[in-house]
Amino acid sequence: MAKKAYGKKYGFQTRAVHTGNDVDSETGAIKRPITMANSYELPYDPSDMNWSSADKSIYTRNGGNNQKYLQEKLASLEGGEDCVVLASGVAALSGLFFSLLKSGDHVIFSSVTYIAVYRLFNELLNNKFNIETSIIDTTDPENIKKVLKSNTRLIHIETPGNPTLMVSDIKKIADVAHANNVLLSVDNTFASPFNQRPIELGADFVIESLTKYINGHGDALGGAIIGKKSYLDTVRAQAQINLGGVISPFNAWLIMRGAVTLPLRMRQHNENAQKVAEYLESLSCVRFVAYPGLKSHKEHIIARAQMAPGFGGVLSFGLNADHDTHNKFISQLKVITSAVSLGHDESLIVFLGENDERQYLYPEEFHKGFFRFSVGIEDTEDIIDDLRQALTKVKLLNADI
Ligand SMILES: *Cc1c(COP(=O)(O)O)cnc(C)c1O
Repeated sequence: MAKKAYGKKYGFQTRAVHTGNDVDSETGAIKRPITMANSYELPYDPSDMNWSSADKSIYTRNGGNNQKYLQEKLASLEGGEDCVVLASGVAALSGLFFSLLKSGDHVIFSSVTYIAVYRLFNELLNNKFNIETSIIDTTDPENIKKVLKSNTRLIHIETPGNPTLMVSDIKKIADVAHANNVLLSVDNTFASPFNQRPIELGADFVIESLTKYINGHGDALGGAIIGKKSYLDTVRAQAQINLGGVISPFNAWLIMRGAVTLPLRMRQHNENAQKVAEYLESLSCVRFVAYPGLKSHKEHIIARAQMAPGFGGVLSFGLNADHDTHNKFISQLKVITSAVSLGHDESLIVFLGENDERQYLYPEEFHKGFFRFSVGIEDTEDIIDDLRQALTKVKLLNADI
């Protein structure tokens, strides 16, 4: 029996559970299996086959079932026409850029983005492939208008941005882009489609690092590009089949499984991060807290308008303390782990010291060492107690509070 729950009339949570899954026609199992095979049986006479086609099952780099199922789910959750999943978030970013851009094009990108975006636009694509790039503070869409040119092809923003949590107005920037015949891509990794759906606000492409909230369990890398089929057919042919950034069927299956609970996890991430941000902001030993859910956040009003029902699980903060006290504080944590990445079930913290080469692009408070904190889905009180006991151990809080 064919399955249900694909259409838009179903809610986000129902689609997170059902879309992309179906009864397996061979066994009758109500979960689709993992297809761990590189190759597929060829027809009687394969001599006129297009070996670079994504349409037929030929070879897993051209396309396999598990990636197809995951693509169905993600396109539905982001409200897009089509989706390409690749081996990592960076494979999705570079896959989109290499497929879309040609020598002589101009790109405008946010001053705060994932580090690989900065490297791609500021070192690789501009120096090796003659693509002009402008780094812009996109929190003010007027800044974008000032640098638009006749050869501008793409605006790429990340909101909230990693690691300063700066927020850009997706709808306003989409309007600027489309009035000038320019495409807009949005890295939605920090918010996830539960909190923010850029395509509904006018973006042409959404990028997700599936490694983060969508998988959510910290055990698989993946990336996705969501957008119109006409563009994504090219991205699939170039980024996946010819550049080879294909995801493994096993990782696609793991991410499919993780994505089922995205809405439940995001609710807890949103709630925990909001409470942790408010707790940290109340302490005099905390130099600053950056979280879009705080009224003190510079773009809180925009964040409230375009992010609902919450602001995600990542925040950044700094202490009124010297460099080594930041490291000592982390070494005292018992629930929260010191590690990169974010959007995992468990709380992760990373000390980003004073030596980031992109500091000149960040607001002043980020010029000293600070933490990026991905608040997990543990009990809220356990996370706050962990912070409190570690701050007490390094003598930033009194023992009797
Ligand atoms: C982690 C991250 C990426 C890169 O994703 P990978 O899966 O690690 O390649 C891209 N954008 C943002 C905002 C990220 O946090």
